[in-house]
Amino acid sequence: MLLLLRRAWAAAASRRGTRWCSLGACCSYRLRDAQPDSLHHLPVHPLWQSPLTIPGGTRQSPINIQWRDSVYDPFLKPLKINYDPTTCLHIWNNGYSFLVEFDDSTDRSIIVGGPLENQYRLKQFHFHWGAINEWGSEHTVDSKFYPAELHLVHWNAVVYPTFEEAVMEGNGLAVIGVFLKLGAHHEGLQTLVDALPAVKHKDTVVEFDVFDPSCLIPSCPDYWTYAGSLTTPPLTESVTWIIKKKPIEVDENQLEAFRMLLFTSDGEEEKRMVDNFRPLQPLMNRTVRSSFQSRHLLNTEVQPKDHAEQIMP
Ligand SMILES: [Zn+2]
Repeated sequence: MLLLLRRAWAAAASRRGTRWCSLGACCSYRLRDAQPDSLHHLPVHPLWQSPLTIPGGTRQSPINIQWRDSVYDPFLKPLKINYDPTTCLHIWNNGYSFLVEFDDSTDRSIIVGGPLENQYRLKQFHFHWGAINEWGSEHTVDSKFYPAELHLVHWNAVVYPTFEEAVMEGNGLAVIGVFLKLGAHHEGLQTLVDALPAVKHKDTVVEFDVFDPSCLIPSCPDYWTYAGSLTTPPLTESVTWIIKKKPIEVDENQLEAFRMLLFTSDGEEEKRMVDNFRPLQPLMNRTVRSSFQSRHLLNTEVQPKDHAEQIMP
């Protein structure tokens, strides 16, 4: 009896541990059983250590995308991207990431289609990344982290007069998420990487004109989409997320260039800009839709039957 009680207590403690894991219960199995020990304790940026930055919303981001749980939606259209490279203005180190900002006073750089009812204007793009290659992305796929994630932020200028107003509304923003994986050198990204030393310190801005960020978006049209939030304050639940299925490849030196940036201003004690991602948030009552049919489902539901029919005596 005592043994049973002890076992029950241990199981409850284990569940409590899972709940407190910053990665959420959904991914605890894989982390506990398949990942190196360091992933038990992902670094948490000071921004996310304060209870003030934990709102009680129902559609917070980022999330873990469970491939098998995503639902194919045949009515999702292809996403059309049309950026004018001359709308690119500058790069800004804001002390949390670096932002490449665009002139959004007209409809010159826009996205349309996909899950969106309106046309959305490009405002800025930025990245999130880790101190090492084992983590860094905000979203995960089947609990897998990528070393970095690109976010291209657009706003609904059809419905709202300003970006600031769009940020507060459910259909105000559309963010394209692109995972970065370690691989081949990325020529398009290198133009950006070459400019980074000029914005090493917080609050530095450097002119960066004529850049087309569509070179950072994989040509594969497949994406997941869900209703979520900003992953930095004010964390408003205003984002239609469009997460590209296929990552882009970048090389180690390019990721290292990100890690050379600083959270700190000139004259302060230097703190490397790394691990600038928000912890995963619960899916709650949401469905992740996919623009493509899941190979995972085909594998589990169709193939075994086909295979059985093909068995020869
Ligand atoms: Zn972001």
